[in-house]
Order: sequence, then structure tokens, then C-alpha cells
Amino acid sequence: MKSLDLMSSKKVAVIGAGASGLVASRELRREGHVPVVFESNNNVGGTWIYNPEVESDPLGVDPSRTIVQSSVYDSLRTNLPRESMGFRDYPFVVVEDMMMIKDENKETSYRKGDNRRFPGHREVLNYLQDFANHFKLTELIWFETEVIHVRLLDDQEGEKENKWAVKYKRRSSSSAPTFVVDEEVFDAVVVCNGHYTEPLIAEIPGIDTWPGKQIHRHNYRVPEPFRDQVVLLVGNSSSGEDLSRDIAGVAKEVHIASKYLTNGIPTKQLGSDNILFGFIPWYKYTFPFLEINNIVTVDDNRVGPLYKHVFSPLLAPGLSFIGLIWKGIPYPIFELQSKWVAGVLSGRILLPSQEEMMVEVEDFYLKLEAAGVPKRYTHNTFDYQFEYSDWLAGECGFPLSEEWRKQMFEAVVKKRRTHLEAYRDEWEDYNHLIMQAHEDFRHYVQ
Ligand code: FAD
Repeated sequence: MKSLDLMSSKKVAVIGAGASGLVASRELRREGHVPVVFESNNNVGGTWIYNPEVESDPLGVDPSRTIVQSSVYDSLRTNLPRESMGFRDYPFVVVEDMMMIKDENKETSYRKGDNRRFPGHREVLNYLQDFANHFKLTELIWFETEVIHVRLLDDQEGEKENKWAVKYKRRSSSSAPTFVVDEEVFDAVVVCNGHYTEPLIAEIPGIDTWPGKQIHRHNYRVPEPFRDQVVLLVGNSSSGEDLSRDIAGVAKEVHIASKYLTNGIPTKQLGSDNILFGFIPWYKYTFPFLEINNIVTVDDNRVGPLYKHVFSPLLAPGLSFIGLIWKGIPYPIFELQSKWVAGVLSGRILLPSQEEMMVEVEDFYLKLEAAGVPKRYTHNTFDYQFEYSDWLAGECGFPLSEEWRKQMFEAVVKKRRTHLEAYRDEWEDYNHLIMQAHEDFRHYVQ
């Protein structure tokens, strides 16, 4: 692929206006590019836009089902302390908490909102909408506009060589039920379409003939439908833990089956008398709009080959992905990935050659394989998120991860293991980390 003439501003399509699409559009514009954000929903926030409706197929496998984008459930609270979660220069803080009185006429949504250290999902949506308003990002977004096809224009199409044709379906006007289909040409495409909508169903022998009710956690909202029932949860990540306690409040018994907790002998969960342990990752990466001749594929939930979870070596820098990682602190990483993509597109940051990137990708996959890590855990950055984000920061000339953020993450992991039902509310012994965070935030919260 001929390299883009890198030293100029690029017209860039961003697909999605959730957290990753928002910070990507901000970083692209900061770098001097012209981002257009396509968002199928009518608001920013992505997965955090709570929808009490669930899909027509509770397991989420029927292709003709009505798709509900968000998988947030009513009682959901963050699983990270807010200080650790926010974008670096737009902290997710409660201003009063910082003993700083903000300029009165600059109302901030989280003053009125949920001030808890681990707030509810509405506060996260407030924060993302505040972020979009503060950085005037909504003017970049085409709402209710779904990207339906993305392809690389080849040299037959003359001056458009190396450009990307983005076909989209847009509501013709706010009230009309009709859509128009049209196409725009861009220099680059940044895919930020999220990965918490398409359920991944655990392959369990006999499950399709099992007579009981089955739902995917994507379609869980409130515990009521489980009243007085014996419930088995398969998989036990942070949402699984929350759901087990939510449901235990009404169910007769809750059993958790998870590969990583016990050797199959049921043990009681701390702090409850009707939750028995007995687990899975729950979502698929899907890019139904991408036509790239299998240069990037999804193989057992590995999106690849991708260099550093972001660039396809064969299509870089015209095609990139932001937000694929999981099991880390997402927003600061999305922000660094976005800075990197923006800097590469402007030519300020250089990528290795295609060959060098491919060698590094193959190396990475071999290491995972040697460590017995399944492909579907390729984007799980739990063990190396700070090494990864510091590598990105180095490429972008940006400060490294703060010690307090690292220690906060470790503290959460430790507390969740020992105080599962109370880890969000017993945080006093880490106040020193909160104070260090607030000291840093003073540079940004005026
Ligand atoms: P999304 O939020 O999914 O946004 C993707 C956007 O792309 C959506 O708005 C969608 O409408 C749009 N889109 C998709 N396809 C198209 C298309 N073809 N055309 C146009 N638009 C399209 N992270 C934390 O930091 N802390 C937490 O406590 C936390 N808890 C979580 C709890 C749950 C239940 C889940 C599911 C995730 C949680 N996360 C948490 C992780 C999550 O990655 C991030 O919080 C983040 O919001 C994801 O942002 P995203 O932009 O990558 O994806």
C-alpha cells in the first residue's frame, strides 16, 4: 500500500461516539486533522446509554433480533474508582471533593450527580457527555448515521487511490422514519465501534437442549425475573460478580460456574448464604461494515493481525482500531491510542515498516501461545496495561502512567478478591492515593 502523504491534515472517518470515538475525534482535531464521527445512536456515550429494553432474543444469537447496543444493567456501578478512570486532562472527579470551587458559571454535571468513588452508570454517561460538550465534539458527529460499508479505493479509481470509501445510512430528517444511503471518501478510518453488543455464547455441551430459561448477560437489567428461582451464572468477571449479588437478593439459590475459581467443588461466596461458586468472556468483536479482503479478521475473538492492538500492518496508517483492549483502565489507554493514531497520520510519529510490524505481531502471538493464552484473550491487557500505555506515551511524547493510578488499580484488584460485596464503598485506607490524584488534577480542574 503506497504510504499516505503524511505531512498534511487528513480527513478521517471515526466510527462510533462512545468513549473511544470521542477521545479519538478530540485527538485527531488537536493534531490538525478533520474528523467526521459517524454514530448510529442519537447521543454520545455508547455502552453507557442505559436502555431498559432488552433484545427480542434473550441469548442474543437470532440474527433477525432487534439489537440493543448497551449492556448496562440498572444497578451497575463502575468497577474502578473514578479518579483512575477519567481521561488524563479531563479527570472524572467530584469538584467539591477537590476542595476547589470551580468558577460558578461553569456548571459541571458531576456536581449534581452521583458523588460516590465508584458511581453508577448514569454518572459515567454524564461524564462522557460533559467531555463531548467541553471539547465541542458534538459538532463533529453525524448522529443516527450508521456506517454500513467501508472499503479501500484502489488505483482504478484515479486520484482516490489509498482513500477509503465510507458508505452510511442516515435518517433523512429527525422525524422521518426513512433513511438515505450515501458515501463519503476519507484519507483514513478509525474504528471505535465498541465490543460489548454482540454476545459470545459459551459452548457448553447439552446447553441447547437444556429446558430452563437462558439469557446472555447483555440482556440482564434487573433481578426481578429471577425471583424464587435457582439460577446458574456461567462466568465470573466483574459483571458476573455484580449480577450474582443482584440476583441473590430475590432468587432461591445462585450458582456460579467459572473455570478460574474452584476445582469444581462449590464454595460459598463471601458475605452471602445463597450464592454458590461453581464461569466466560461474554462478547464478540464484530466489524460487519469492513470490506478489507480478510486482511484483518476476527479469529476466536482475536482481531488481527494488529500492531499494538491498533494498526493493521498491511493497511496502516489508513485503518486503525481504538478501544479493543479489555481488563485494564480503558480511558487513559484509548486516549493514548488516539494520540498515537493522530500523530502517525500527521507524520509526526513514524511507524516501523510493514515487515517490522508483522514480525512484532507474530512475535507477540507466539509469546501468547507459549504462555498458553487462548486467542480470545489477545486484547486482555490485565498483565501489562501500564507497560503498554507507557510504550504508547513514549511514542507520543506524553507523560508516563502515574504511580497513584497504578496503585489504585492494584488496590481494586486486591479488594475485589477479599471484599467483593464492599470493595466499592470501603476505600478509606487508600485516601493517600486519592489525595495524590487530586494534586495532579489541579493542573486541569480550574
Ligand atoms: P462503546 O461504548 O460500545 O461505543 C461504541 C459506539 O459505536 C456506540 O455508540 C455505537 O452506537 C457506535 N457504533 C457501533 N457500530 C457503528 C456503526 N456501524 N456506525 C455508527 N456507529 C456505530 N470501563 C471503565 O473504565 N470502568 C468501568 O467501570 C467499566 N464498566 C463496564 C461495564 C460494562 C457492563 C461494560 C460493557 C463495559 C465497561 N467498561 C468500563 C469498559 C468499556 O470499554 C468502556 O467503559 C467504554 O465505554 C467503551 O467505549 P467504546 O467507545 O470503546 O465502545
